[in-house]
Amino acid sequence: MSPDEHVWQADIALDLPGRESYSYLLPTGAVEKDLEIGTCVTVPFAGRTACGFVLAVERRALPSGFMLKAIDTIHADVRLPPALLALIRWGAHYYRCALGEFLAGAVPAPVRDGAQRERTWLIAPVAGFSGDLTPRQRVVLGLLPLTPTPLARAVELAACTRALLDKLVAAGAATLTDVVRDKEIRLQARHERFALTAEQQVAVDAVAAALTANKHEPFLLYGVTGSGKTLVYLELAQQVIASGRQVLYLLPEIGLTPQLAARVRTRFPDLVVWHSAQADGDRADSWRRCARGEVPLVVGTRSALFAPLPNLGLIIVDEEHETSYKQESVPRYHARDLALVYGRQLNIPVILGSATPSLESVHNGRAKRFTVLTLRQRPLGGSLPTPILVDMREECHAQKSSAVLSRELVTRLAGVRAAGEQAIVLLNRRGWSPVVSCKACGATIMCPHCDISLTWHRGANALRCHYCAHQTPFPKTCPTCQAPELSTHGLGTEQLAHALAQAVPGLGVLRVDADTVGERQGHAKLFQAFAEGRAECLVGTQMVAKGLDFPRVTLVGIICADKGLAVPDFRAAEKTWQLIAQVSGRAGRGERPGTVVVQAFDTEALALRAALEHRPKTFIDAELKLREEYGYPPYAGLVRILWSGESEANVQLVANEHGARLRGILDGAVLLGPNPAGVALLKNQHRWHALIKAATRGAAQSLLDRLESAGGLPRAKGVHVAIDVDPYVTS
Ligand code: ADP
Ligand code: ZN
Repeated sequence: MSPDEHVWQADIALDLPGRESYSYLLPTGAVEKDLEIGTCVTVPFAGRTACGFVLAVERRALPSGFMLKAIDTIHADVRLPPALLALIRWGAHYYRCALGEFLAGAVPAPVRDGAQRERTWLIAPVAGFSGDLTPRQRVVLGLLPLTPTPLARAVELAACTRALLDKLVAAGAATLTDVVRDKEIRLQARHERFALTAEQQVAVDAVAAALTANKHEPFLLYGVTGSGKTLVYLELAQQVIASGRQVLYLLPEIGLTPQLAARVRTRFPDLVVWHSAQADGDRADSWRRCARGEVPLVVGTRSALFAPLPNLGLIIVDEEHETSYKQESVPRYHARDLALVYGRQLNIPVILGSATPSLESVHNGRAKRFTVLTLRQRPLGGSLPTPILVDMREECHAQKSSAVLSRELVTRLAGVRAAGEQAIVLLNRRGWSPVVSCKACGATIMCPHCDISLTWHRGANALRCHYCAHQTPFPKTCPTCQAPELSTHGLGTEQLAHALAQAVPGLGVLRVDADTVGERQGHAKLFQAFAEGRAECLVGTQMVAKGLDFPRVTLVGIICADKGLAVPDFRAAEKTWQLIAQVSGRAGRGERPGTVVVQAFDTEALALRAALEHRPKTFIDAELKLREEYGYPPYAGLVRILWSGESEANVQLVANEHGARLRGILDGAVLLGPNPAGVALLKNQHRWHALIKAATRGAAQSLLDRLESAGGLPRAKGVHVAIDVDPYVTS
């Protein structure tokens, strides 16, 4: 082939930073029509094979000087719908991530690898078999249960080998059948077919109007906890599905999916549940079913936004204020924000729902960029829970010790137990004690790899780092001065669960946190046990705060409610307000009224008071004023740059060099830093960061465009640079 000859070439996005695409020749025997845009392919790259996606197919002159390689394999069943590819393109630009990297983050690896659902083989004897068998085979045949039994179980029951069972099958004495087993946990839920309340009807009508008009409109469904937002979503989903289109229903937490999925499944049995902890085969299978248009509704966490639904009609983002919609690794997107972009591209409505909306969304509502729909009433007639604020300074004084539980909470828990009701107690910290220190020298035991103290986990008898996997037995002596006496400080859920069981005799306590949840979908099992009434008290971290609907819960306790306010994060007050209002909202959802007992040291904090006294506007107004004054979102566009590496000197050097470069293109924006990050050491990586504050998100984007035109931030050996657009972690 001469160099100027024109041949078909495909541009493939690969999972690499930097270049958008690489050119490849078509595989032998393939024609350009076999390679639709968005198709997944495997290609040779730098001595290995890599997975990528087709961006373009063109007839072009061959490049001179080097040989183009050919695509290895075309995965025709893995093809992104054009609208999804357009969304991902938008996201890659906005979040400053290579397109191929974004694609690799959006299309689950098991899909790209062609994973299949796990199959279980069942064996059953053939009735009336009269062929030849050895005496031993005859005995085993006689021992097989008559109903189809999983092979492993049959081996156990007949005390034989797998090979012997295979021989029975070969001889025609038994048959094998296979069943596909998905590993999803399915909970039961009651069928909710209520007449809509007047408020719910107004909300449904407003969104339905946008659906009928085929236009994009963003809605903020602002409904108090227990006001029946779910029913609004389900009514609208019904309409969309009836018109032959699909619905995407996003939730912030994996822990919520089984309960919600059960509620939704009573109406839409064919729904797909989508989250990152699914078994590989299940994820790949869900993906392919979505792509074939077989799935009317997807319920899932942030990554479900990238489910390949061919004809999407509505996106619901429930608990839109939750920060878990932000992904903290590449691609660093925000699923709520991208959902709005997707809705605009597709001309479909998007509903953001919350009882405690993000200040960004409230602001958008006030600026008329969102249509606000309000639900003020709980349909079951229930009122919002009655708050009781306990000042723990007084309590410790009265109990003459550092009290864990207030007398108020203990009395009320005993009352709940006596009445056959249930309680939820929240403490946003796991383990027994977060700090272990030496009584002699005062040194705190730190993680050797991270800038954080080790937490004592009493059950595991270990000190653990909550940032990395480091773990060590509880030391006999101080690692610093070798003195023999160590003391523990502070409270975690493990100790709290213990204290509750001690304080209220006979109280069944169930702990839900990252330590007890353990395996995949462990939450579901724990929540199910609680729903079935196998314990009266659910204790846990923020996992227990969100979205759960247990009608028998009449009491909520919040321990160290003001703890989150001390965090260096401009959203600290907002998050505290949301957490307290949300967890309070778990009480009194059924017929019986609820109470919330809140233990805090700073009982005057507005975030706390406003959440408990159901005065959202007071909090929102005050907080928005502060944000405006100090130039934080929604009154600014932020970009965080994070430098990390093994050598602190190197990290500092590069951070300062890059900082100087950024200063040269600010054009009115402000650069804070570079300086050491709040967590200055993480997994042996030293960290520096800087925060760009621009007037708006658009201004922040222009700045990043200028940076790219000027050649970007030069690469430096040994220092990793991360750009985080609209960051949620800023310390
Ligand atoms: P939210 O998501 O707004 O916190 P839910 O959707 O969980 O609230 O609804 C709270 C409770 O009210 C649920 O038990 C639900 O079944 C019930 N509910 C919702 N709408 C109605 C209605 N129109 N009539 C009667 N009960 C309702
Ligand atoms: Zn660590």
